[in-house]
This record gives sequence, structure tokens and C-alpha cells, in this order.
Amino acid sequence: MIIISSCLIGLNSKYNGENNYDKNFLDILKEEIIIPFCPEQAGGLPTPRSPAEISGGDGFDVLKGIARVITKDGVDVTENYIKGAYEALKLAKIYGITKAILKSKSPSCGCGKIYDGSFKNKIKAGTGVTAALFLENGIQVISSEEFLRKK
Ligand code: SF4
Repeated sequence: MIIISSCLIGLNSKYNGENNYDKNFLDILKEEIIIPFCPEQAGGLPTPRSPAEISGGDGFDVLKGIARVITKDGVDVTENYIKGAYEALKLAKIYGITKAILKSKSPSCGCGKIYDGSFKNKIKAGTGVTAALFLENGIQVISSEEFLRKK
């Protein structure tokens, strides 16, 4: 059983009300059960919503309380991101899941690289809040880019 970012299998959970569908993610169902989850929705944010990026660090820093998640309009949504991450972890623990495939570059789901907080489509090294919490709890995180590269 694998947790997957819900937008990757076509659920319209993305900030703009759309998704990041790719058939390759749905094809995983031929071999394994996948549990779709969107931590931003689970954290109480609406869809569509204003896009957000991590300012002053990455998801590990957000969990430590030394970086914040800020929307393009300047609203601090850090608590929503942390709540969503813990909801995702709760789900993983309920099902005993140890592996996740998460959408690249997202401030929640990104693993290894994320948007840099400038809203200029720039990338920096770092990990999103949910991906960071998963890694801290021994859950393997595969980024969607990495998954597709190996296809
Ligand atoms: Fe997809 Fe994750 Fe963003 Fe939700 S938080 S829309 S699952 S990338």
C-alpha cells in the first residue's frame, strides 16, 4: 500500500482547482493499493486556494518552527500545512504505510527541491512539510519526477 499525492491521479486538489494527472501513477493500481491524499486540503485549506511557498527554509525548518509557509497574497498558512502533514502521518500509521509517492516541488509534497519562496517559479534545494514529516518518521518518499524518470 502506498500513499500518493491525490493530484497525481487526477483528483482536482491543486491550488488552482486542477490536477497533475499522469496515467503512469494510476497504473500503479495494477500492482498495489494506492491511498490518495492531499495534505493542504486536509489542513483545512479550500480548493481553489492561493498558491503558497515556504519562506526562510524548507519543510524541516517549518516543523522546527523556524520557517513559515506564506501565500502569494501574504497570508501565513503555516499551521494549515503542519496540520495537513500530521493528518497524512496519521493516515500512514493507521494503514501501516511505509512508502509515499509525492508531487515534486510542492511546499507540502516536494522532496529534494521546492519553490524558493519568491513566487518567481524558482527552485531551491529542500523538502515540503508533509514530505519532511514522512522522512522524519521513517516513511520512504519518492518524488513524482523521480518515479516518472524510472518509467
Ligand atoms: Fe497535490 Fe500535494 Fe499540492 Fe495536494 S498538497 S495538490 S496532493 S501537491
